[in-house]
Amino acid sequence: MGTTSCLNCGMLVHDGVRRCPKCDNPLDRQTDGSTVTIDIAHQGERVHEALRELETAIKETRRGMAKNLRVIVGSGAIRDAVIARVADYERRQVIISHQLEGNNAGAIIVRLK
Ligand SMILES: [Zn+2]
Repeated sequence: MGTTSCLNCGMLVHDGVRRCPKCDNPLDRQTDGSTVTIDIAHQGERVHEALRELETAIKETRRGMAKNLRVIVGSGAIRDAVIARVADYERRQVIISHQLEGNNAGAIIVRLK
């Protein structure tokens, strides 16, 4: 089992612990402000495969310290499906918010924390 350290007090805690045992800070909301980028559209993925990759990446990235997940979606059917999916995640508060990156929007920024 891995460990991370509390950004507030530096206490080492096991992965999956949601509250720091020392300073009571909510660990699952701590973030170092970083962005993790994934590409789910350029290895011949089908739409359902891309959505599965998206779901896995969101789950795994939420466990870490990153604030944003930047999802490269290309310009086709995957993009449309991912936009619909993250809008649904936002409604259900799985994520905080999402936005298209720039004007050509081949990427979506998903704010996790
Ligand atoms: Zn702490």
